[in-house]
Amino acid sequence: MHSGALLVLLLLPLAGLAQSSGASRTTAPPPVVRKTQPNAIALPTDGQVREWINVWQKRLGLGEWEIDAKIVRIWDLPQDTIANIHWTLSSKKATIKVLNAVDSTLKPAAFLKDTELSVVHELVHLSMAKLPLDPKHTELEEEAVKRISTALVGTVKR
Ligand SMILES: [Zn+2]
Repeated sequence: MHSGALLVLLLLPLAGLAQSSGASRTTAPPPVVRKTQPNAIALPTDGQVREWINVWQKRLGLGEWEIDAKIVRIWDLPQDTIANIHWTLSSKKATIKVLNAVDSTLKPAAFLKDTELSVVHELVHLSMAKLPLDPKHTELEEEAVKRISTALVGTVKR
């Protein structure tokens, strides 16, 4: 959705106008080059996320899964994460959530790269969903998923 980002962009100039009208004699503060937010545009788009999922779902042979995608705000994800996945083995349904760029400090290009890597990371988790994983001790699984997803994304020619 674009509305949240637009609101931020519009409100700041209005606040500036309100301050400069009226009869005050204070020294004008130096002009502030105010970057509203590092990424005040809605990124990635739903279409981008959908395409990453389609491409990597095929590459990883996860065709039996029905995978949904959501671009969410930071409060919709566990702390210190930028993506997550929830799956149900019996129904073969999964939902991947990725962070909206408005909540990231990365520049757009870096953010997009990072988000694709996150999508691959979550899909690698999904490719292990049938393994006898220990939900209480996910460190080793996490380590393996990190290495595999980073290697996979790194091998793709762009
Ligand atoms: Zn993970």
